[in-house]
Formats: sequence, C-alpha cells, structure tokens
Amino acid sequence: MTVETTTKTYLNFINGKWEASSSGKTVASNNPSNRDDVVGIIQVSTKEELDQAVFAAKHSQKAWKALTGSERGAYLYKTADILENRMDEIAETMTREMGKTLPEAKGETARGVAILRYYAGEGMRKVGDVIPSTDNKALMFTSRVPLGVVGVISPWNFPVAIPIWKMAPALIYGNSVVIKPAQETAVTCAKVIECFEKAGIPDGVLNMVTGSGSVIGQGLVEHPDVNGITFTGSNEVGKMVGQGALARGAKYQLEMGGKNPVIVAADADLDIAVEGTISGAFRSTGQKCTATSRVIIAGEIYEKFKEKLLEKVKEITVGNGMEDGIWMGPSANESQLNTALSYIEAGKQEGATLLIGGNRLTGAAYDKGYFIEPTVFENVTTDMKIAQEEIFGPVLALIQVNTFEEAITIANDVKFGLSASIYTKDIQSMLSFIENMEAGLIRVNAESAGVELQAPFGGMKQSSSHSREQGEAAKEFFTAIKTVFVK
Ligand code: NAD
Repeated sequence: MTVETTTKTYLNFINGKWEASSSGKTVASNNPSNRDDVVGIIQVSTKEELDQAVFAAKHSQKAWKALTGSERGAYLYKTADILENRMDEIAETMTREMGKTLPEAKGETARGVAILRYYAGEGMRKVGDVIPSTDNKALMFTSRVPLGVVGVISPWNFPVAIPIWKMAPALIYGNSVVIKPAQETAVTCAKVIECFEKAGIPDGVLNMVTGSGSVIGQGLVEHPDVNGITFTGSNEVGKMVGQGALARGAKYQLEMGGKNPVIVAADADLDIAVEGTISGAFRSTGQKCTATSRVIIAGEIYEKFKEKLLEKVKEITVGNGMEDGIWMGPSANESQLNTALSYIEAGKQEGATLLIGGNRLTGAAYDKGYFIEPTVFENVTTDMKIAQEEIFGPVLALIQVNTFEEAITIANDVKFGLSASIYTKDIQSMLSFIENMEAGLIRVNAESAGVELQAPFGGMKQSSSHSREQGEAAKEFFTAIKTVFVK
C-alpha cells in the first residue's frame, strides 16, 4: 500500500475557487498515531472569508433552487462516483488524520457514497401532500421550499459521513451550503469538497471555510444570511449554537452526545452480547456518539458475561490504524486522550474497580501517538462521573442489577438519550425496553452503535434538538413547509 506522504496546503473553497485566508495564518493537521506526520496544512480563516462564502452561497441559491430535483441529483450521483473512485486515498487520509482503522475509514467512505446516491434519488420523490379540503371545490396541499443558505458545523469523529449526511440533503432540497468542518479533520473534508468540485457543482452552491469554532463556527451561527444551522458535536457547544440560532430566528438542528447503555438480560446469548458490547464500546476508540459506555447486566449471568468480555478485551490490538492486524487506533488527539485518562482517574477516585486497561500505552511503537488501553470498570454506581458523563473514549462501565426494572431505571438515569441496546430472547423484555427506554435509537440484539442511512437518526433528552437526520426525515429540517389553498 502506498500512503500519501507529502504535506499539502489546503485552502478554503469559496464561490468555486480555492483561496487562502486573508489572515495568512495556517495550522497543521497531525496524525494521532505519529504526531511528526503532518497530514496537511489548513487555513485559519477570518470572518472576511466567512462573509464571502455566505455571500456566494446566498447569490447562487436562487439558480440552484430553480433546477429540478433530478438535475440537482445528477450532481450528487457524479460526486458519489468520484468519491467511490477516490475511496482508498480518502480513507487513508481519514485514518492518518483522526486515527480510526483503515477498514473502518473505508466503511465510512463507502457510507458517504451510499448517502450521496440515496439523496440523489430523493430529488425525484414527493416533498408535499395533498390534504382533503372541507370545500370540495378547493385544492389544498403542502409544498416544501428550501431554507436558503444552510451552515454545516461538523465534528471530527466521522469526517466523511457526517458532512455528507448534512450537505447532501441540504443540496438536494435546493439549499446552498457553507461548511465549517472540525479543524482536526479539515483535510479529509477538503477532499470530499474536491469531489463535489470535480462533479461540477455550480460556483457558490457549496463552500468550505476552515477555522476555529469560536470565529467561523460562531460566525456562521450569528450570520444574518444563514437561514439554517445543522450542528453535530458536543453538548456544551451544541447548546451555544442552539441559543445563538434561536436568538436571531434561524432554524437549527443539533446532534450531540450520548451515554449509551446496553442491557444484558439473563436469557441473552452471551457470545452475541459480548461481541456487540466490544464493538460498540471500543470501535473507533470509543469515539462515536452512539458508543456503548455502560453495560447493565442481570445478576445471575454477571460473572460469566464479565469473564467472556475480559477475554475479548485482552485480544484487542491497539496501534496505528493504517497497519494490518490493528483493531483499535489511537485517541484522535491529545486532548481526547487526556479526557479519557482523566475519566479513568475519576473512576478510580470515586471507588469503581478497574478490571482491565486504564493506561496510556508507552514504548517505541506508541510514544509519538495518543494510544490508550481499552478500559473496563466494575462496581460502578450511577452517581459516578463514569456512569453519567460522556467520555468519548474506550472506557466501559459494568453495572450489576437484580431486576429488569432496575436495569431500565439505571439505563435512563442520565441526561442523554441517543442510543440504547438490549440483548434478550424474551419478547416481553424487548417490548418493555422499546416502550420505556428514553432514546432516539432503540437496538434489540444489536450493538448500540449504528443505524442504516435510510432510517431517521437522532436522540432524545439532551442528545439532540429532537429533529432527525438521515433518510426521508432529513427533509423536515432542510425545507420549510407552505400550506397552499387553491380555489
Ligand atoms: P465539538 O463540539 O468540540 O465541535 C464540533 C464542531 O463545532 C467543530 O466543527 C467545532 O469547531 C465547532 N465549534 C466549536 N466551538 C464552536 C462555537 N462556539 N460555535 C460554533 N461552532 C463551534 O465536538 P467534537 O469534539 O468535534 O466532536 C465530539 C462530540 O460530537 C461528542 O460529544 C459526540 O458525542 C458528538 N457527536 C454526536 C453525533 C450525533 O449524531 N449525535 C455524531 C458524532 C459526534
């Protein structure tokens, strides 16, 4: 395998042109497996570039909206083909830039291709309903119109799939877009934007401005010409984004954190439950919003489940995700590593028992990266930080319970409500779980992480602003409804 080794400078994409920031400032994007490896140099932009991008988006949107859905879809189909052809290269960039293993990065890029094709097809589907009027001489229907300019603020953990699952529906429904990707993965995002450029997307319809959250992210939120903001990221930042958008009457959509539980009932197939727990907790180094962070286990099978789980955790190979045989890559950056380590410390301080892991990995193979051991605690009580707060790292809490009701109560006893999973063969337990879990994604005999792209995605409680991404549901956010009465 040839991995790109040159260091290129990536510019902003504004009105169809790649341009440097007027700040003259740049920042390096480093490889979390080896911080000496600079993946690319990116722009630290100012409000000036943001204004230019929003201006271009505003002035191109009318002509974009005037195209038919299938004409807009044709650009997405073309982008999908180009991304598919660049799959290996872009997946390698993703692995180099944020650390997830190459097979995971390829899977995510393939997902990006599929999302583009899905929304390309949506351009041909209905966007309104005919509603019977009480006046039989009248025609009443709903019609959907684009919002105008949509601002996309994306995180680093899914640097291809998340920008695409926001940009593709925004574009297909006739909006123009300004994206501010996470600084940590701006190179990967720039390569996705290159695919749209190659597909011939009209100038100004799609723009990318890189820079800090406080300048470019907040600037997008406050910009009077940005009609909708779609944000994925942490709870703290999401709340600010929501308040900022609300203050000026812009539409907003927030997808934020999780503290996702798995319940393992006494009758569960333990091998399947262990496999799903391992994958949910440790794939992507636990840096998924839907990652499993708590396993709530029926008392009678607790020891057996624990034993099987620990056997599997011992088998996890940690290292540079670009290498064959590596199952878990590094934390995506130093601050993620330190956050995970500080939660491990808090777990120990608060009296949980560390069963396995708990340390930063050291030695020649690890010293230049941010590698951490997969970590499991037991004797975790619901008041502990590791039972309540999103860690976003490979740290799992085991909680033993005596009754099914207790399991549900504990599973719900957090401020988040993104994803929840149960392993059981009993239909009554399944139904009770489906009915009582406070989560936007309910998974039965399946790991907490994962949802198919044609299905609605989003959370309850503080995980989400309660709108949904993905699938047909995305049109709720990316369009406004007009109710039409004709007589
Ligand atoms: P983050 O909140 O730090 O950053 C997200 C984005 O917001 C980045 O582009 C960042 O630059 C920008 N930002 C930062 N400050 C801002 C401000 N003041 N105004 C506007 N934008 C600002 O999150 P992160 O560390 O990139 O990602 C991890 C978080 O994302 C986790 O909490 C995870 O659960 C969440 N996440 C949620 C989902 C979901 O769909 N629910 C999916 C993936 C990740």
